Amino acid sequence: MQLSFKNLTIPQLKDAFSTLGEPSFRWKQVLKWVYQKRVDRFDQMSNVSKKTRQVLAGHFRLFKLDVSNLLISRKNDAAKFGFRLRDNAIIESVLLYDKNRRTACISSQLGCGLGCTFCETGKMGFFRNLSQEEILGQLIGINDYLESRGDKLLSNIVFMGMGEALSNYANFRAAVEIIMDENGFCFGGRKITVSTAGVVPSIKRLMKENLNLGLAISLNSWNNKSRSRIMPVNRKYPIETLIKIAQEYFQTTGRRVTFEYVVIEGHNDGNDAVEGILRLLNGVTCKINLIPANPCSAYGDISSSERKISDMAQKLSAGGINATIRKSRGRDICGACGQLSSTESICVYKNAKV
Ligand code: SF4
Repeated sequence: MQLSFKNLTIPQLKDAFSTLGEPSFRWKQVLKWVYQKRVDRFDQMSNVSKKTRQVLAGHFRLFKLDVSNLLISRKNDAAKFGFRLRDNAIIESVLLYDKNRRTACISSQLGCGLGCTFCETGKMGFFRNLSQEEILGQLIGINDYLESRGDKLLSNIVFMGMGEALSNYANFRAAVEIIMDENGFCFGGRKITVSTAGVVPSIKRLMKENLNLGLAISLNSWNNKSRSRIMPVNRKYPIETLIKIAQEYFQTTGRRVTFEYVVIEGHNDGNDAVEGILRLLNGVTCKINLIPANPCSAYGDISSSERKISDMAQKLSAGGINATIRKSRGRDICGACGQLSSTESICVYKNAKV
């Protein structure tokens, strides 16, 4: 049976190529063709002998995700891709433009089981983890698109799309290995950020791996009562645990954690919030990123006013916390934070279950 090339980890690739009797440089050569030149057939690999290409084609299959739909934001600062998977489900990924930066916001699960109330993906429920091939396929698809437009390729990657990457640790980790390999996408850890609702055991694992990745923890409140209301995962990993792990992450990796804070009108904004956050983050080496909440089907438009959010940022900064405001991109194409979803995937899986 043919193996999916893009589902193989680097140790598995080394083993597979050695079993085929190939010299040790060959897997690197092929990796470059697949992830840097993004070919989808072995016969396109012109510096590999015809005989070897035939052997490889007999053992491995190369699969590219189809772009099933593409939406471009009015301001041209975001593009949302719907990628069709082999089971016909669709995942969404977003390309964000910022001056010289091209950032891919990619998905790691089909749906999400953590059920944050302000998030469309959470409302889908959880269907399955994405494979390594499906995670990497999003990057290949976006780079293909950028290249076709004569644009520069991706410079940054954020695991902030559909799903909780740290709940799909093995595939996330294997994908990151290819993303960082010099023959793969060749990204440094500083160019990659993983966002989590606070899955503490996986943060501990990540911390020990010495990958130098950026870590963003979705905080969204300064007290457990209100956080549990909007993020059920808080009942398992409450705020104190997150603060502790953020400090450990900084001490172990030297990288400050970013706390993300989706500002929801009347729920977690205003002076009480500012005072609560200042008390909570006092002495913690971190940043806080205020994110205007984006419209979602459950609540409609739930964002606090720009004035209120900028007032919060100023007061937090004055109180000694490094506070920034996230510029919302792709809201008009439902590609901003908390807006990714796929009715097609729900249909595929609901029908499959009947
Ligand atoms: S915000 Fe993240 S963790 Fe929460 S439901 Fe949405 S995708 Fe899942």
